[in-house]
Amino acid sequence: MSSLPTAWLRQLAEAVGFDLVGFSRAEPIPPEALCSWVEAGYAADMDWMGERAAERLDVRLLLPGAKTVVTFANNYYRDDPEAADSPIARYARGRDYHSTLRDRMKAFRKALQESYPGIGTYGGVDSGPMMEKVWAARSGMGYVGKNGCFITERYGSWVLLATLILDAEVDAYGEGPATDRCGACRRCLLSCPTGALVGNGRVDARACLSYQTIENRSQEVPEAFRFAMDSLVFGCDICQDVCPLNRKPVFAEHPRFAPRAVAGLGVMELAGLTPEQYAQFIPGTALARARYDGLRRNAIYALGAARQEQARALLEKLCEEPSEPVRSAAQWALRQLAQ
Ligand code: SF4
Ligand code: SF4
Repeated sequence: MSSLPTAWLRQLAEAVGFDLVGFSRAEPIPPEALCSWVEAGYAADMDWMGERAAERLDVRLLLPGAKTVVTFANNYYRDDPEAADSPIARYARGRDYHSTLRDRMKAFRKALQESYPGIGTYGGVDSGPMMEKVWAARSGMGYVGKNGCFITERYGSWVLLATLILDAEVDAYGEGPATDRCGACRRCLLSCPTGALVGNGRVDARACLSYQTIENRSQEVPEAFRFAMDSLVFGCDICQDVCPLNRKPVFAEHPRFAPRAVAGLGVMELAGLTPEQYAQFIPGTALARARYDGLRRNAIYALGAARQEQARALLEKLCEEPSEPVRSAAQWALRQLAQ
């Protein structure tokens, strides 16, 4: 098969709803960065990061004959007034982005295979062993900033990435990362409340509140970090909010990125969610990953960190909960009120 025309692929990506697209050769990724990050313990208990390292580093193990990695990006920035005080990270306030990007990639793949029958593909949205930011950087779409986020020129770091591997070549490839625009700035490093940014764009997941509020469902959040959660329940945008490269965000018009009703809830309402409210608000959003008890546990920590005296009655009630993480979080929060 002759190489695929990137002009046509770009039009197709735009037609299915992506804001940016880039192309990189499916060449192996040097192992040092991933291995040293895992060996340093920065992956916390996300064992899957190290377990499928061979496939992460060489996508030809995922798709035999892989030649090209296509990276798609969607801007998701919204500043709807009804979500202005939401304790949920911006990307998680609307419909689950996985389904949005997956639908778009599916449409892209279908059109591609109609025009080029027999082409082999392997895709994923924040799933599967693919190093999205590495491929996005190789494609020239942006670069990884000191805050560990992928930064684009037009949308800053308010982007979500999806990756599609092809067993065909394209007619033009990106030339590696865009120019690093961080310069001497250290704002994100100085603003991270838990010191999770450990240099060179690396994040120590153990100290990152995104990890603690989303992935750490089985253990308590270390006490030192809970004090930084006074207005965070799911995810953390601090190192993006302070970034000067995010000063001119572009509003993501598509209704799929519009905040859902859950983004109008405050910390107290999230802490007191009933199973019925959980079923009403959470399915179909990225918040489902934290699960019922994880979400409430986080919100309770937030009440304690903010010393919300008006939450006392709710916290006392939550001390009677059958769920151990919720109960112990409520006991901790009550102790903060007493101080
Ligand atoms: Fe720090 Fe929050 Fe950024 Fe994690 S997401 S590195 S906790 S500022
Ligand atoms: Fe780079 Fe400054 Fe943005 Fe951090 S805050 S990612 S150092 S520009």
